[in-house]
Amino acid sequence: MIAINHTLAGAAIGSLTDNIPFVVVASIASHFVLDFLPHIDQGADKDGRERFRPLIKYSLAAFDVFVSFVIVILLIYFKSSLNGWNVFIGAFSALLIDLVFNVPFWEDKVASVWPLNKIYNFHNKLHDPFKKYEWWGVPIQIALVIMCLWIILR
Ligand SMILES: [Zn+2]
Repeated sequence: MIAINHTLAGAAIGSLTDNIPFVVVASIASHFVLDFLPHIDQGADKDGRERFRPLIKYSLAAFDVFVSFVIVILLIYFKSSLNGWNVFIGAFSALLIDLVFNVPFWEDKVASVWPLNKIYNFHNKLHDPFKKYEWWGVPIQIALVIMCLWIILR
């Protein structure tokens, strides 16, 4: 999924509890759950074809990550009742898997080192079962954004 979905899910988890270890573990787990759902992102389409040339793909991904953290920081800034650190740690933990495994500068390295390669392969395979329904992801991803914002802002 796109970074905005992941960080908002982590931020929502972080807004629910002060238990930091729980926030970290649940946010990382949320990454895998969200990637399992049908979704559209900057990566390959359902037929395995890249949607964008590498430079465009990684620029879009970087922009996505940047915007997602701007949103989280604005939420923390404007909703003073939030525990900002928990929300931020949740957002960061929720994106961690993609930051470790999907950044081109070190992707090849982590993909070849045990035990990281196990997580790398699991993370990649997780996208497959519902890949053919990727366009169902659009309403799912919009609904997720609304749900997470509702949890954070309620
Ligand atoms: Zn992912």
